[in-house]
Amino acid sequence: MDARLEAIRDTVLARNPGEAEFHQAVTEVFESLGPVHDRHPEFLEGAVLERLCEPERQIIFRVPWADDSGRFQINRGFRVEFNSALGPFKGGLRFHPSVNLGIVKFLGFEQIFKNALTGMPIGGGKGGSDFDPRGRSDAEIMRFCQAFMTELYRHIGEYTDVPAGDIGVGGREIGYLFGQYKRITNRYESGVLTGKGISWGGSLVRPEATGFGTVIFAEEMLKTRGLSFDGQRVVVSGSGNVAINAIAKAQALGATVVACSDSSGYIVDEAGIDVDLLRQIKEVERGRLKEYQARRSAVDYVDGGSVWDVDATVALPCATQNEIDGDAAARLVRNGLLAVGEGANMPSTPDAVAVFQDARILFGPGKAANAGGVATSALEMQQNASRDSWSFAHTEERLTEIMVGIHDRCAATADEYGDPGNYVLGANIGGFVKVADAMLAQGLI
Ligand code: GLU
Repeated sequence: MDARLEAIRDTVLARNPGEAEFHQAVTEVFESLGPVHDRHPEFLEGAVLERLCEPERQIIFRVPWADDSGRFQINRGFRVEFNSALGPFKGGLRFHPSVNLGIVKFLGFEQIFKNALTGMPIGGGKGGSDFDPRGRSDAEIMRFCQAFMTELYRHIGEYTDVPAGDIGVGGREIGYLFGQYKRITNRYESGVLTGKGISWGGSLVRPEATGFGTVIFAEEMLKTRGLSFDGQRVVVSGSGNVAINAIAKAQALGATVVACSDSSGYIVDEAGIDVDLLRQIKEVERGRLKEYQARRSAVDYVDGGSVWDVDATVALPCATQNEIDGDAAARLVRNGLLAVGEGANMPSTPDAVAVFQDARILFGPGKAANAGGVATSALEMQQNASRDSWSFAHTEERLTEIMVGIHDRCAATADEYGDPGNYVLGANIGGFVKVADAMLAQGLI
């Protein structure tokens, strides 16, 4: 890392102790930014990096709610409003027992650059809670969401901060959150949340967008080597919204997706995953992946273990952060891997990224490859602002244009900075320069 940047990075780490994932995300971005600061000394003079690493506002709050047996439960809620240089804070809410300030800050920090890369007018933010939705009844989920919004409502708004979903937050939760916001504020403010239901202000393609976008991005990377998804053997991690839609899109493009996982284990279905069955189990029944095996012949279910033990030519990690380590990456590379598209945020550890890059694997980092979700959220905001709703075909076309645009911008930036094919460099520099220019133009804020 450039010595000037390293000094700033060390200060950031020292004043944010114990936030391991945030440290990792900051370090990864800083490693790309040395050459930009050679060309743009004004960024150092303007203390852009110091400002970027300090969120504009961080909110931590108590979420008290009653479970079905009448017992009082207390969770912690977060919203980190990281950077609004390009637009209102924008980013999802994650409900998962692992959520803490460091995780929310890593996600919010990544979101700044991701959102800049989309070319849409959105700043970066993230939030969530350590609430565990697993095993909770629908009524408990509703009461939790209402309690969460009872504090969050005062911090958000269509021109201020626009939350959406992430792990543990999908259409059901956004519905309960929106209902409570409307009730407290007495405003039908469609643009305050994205990922809404289609009949009350949501956008077609938003549910599919992150998974579809990841595959579109990976397809563009494959094209640079004269390849495509057609005939590829694909492994996807996860089996939530991002994973399911990545599987559907990869198979539509002619690939065979042979494996996917949940937090308990993984399935191997050599004939190609039956997406309708997977949707039925995960989205309709809210069940576990294990149930897939009983309902389809010749499927292996491996309890525990890592889905990255399954060979693939294309890997699409769509579960969570740091799910592929250096050893798993090395095994995949030895067994014929060509490309990685990150559907999750920061799923590859720094060691894994180094293995992929040393082997010249096509590697699409999350902040570029999974930007289709938030980009389509911005399309939802656009539809809300004009009180319009677009067709599936039109919205999908816009998503495709945006993903191809992100790919091309990352590739062009990597070329410009002398490291062709390095999408990590391209994404970090491309996102950063846009935000840094806007910050300088807006003065010392
Ligand atoms: N949580 C998603 C992400 O990581 C989507 C955020 C949004 O739509 O605002 O980008």
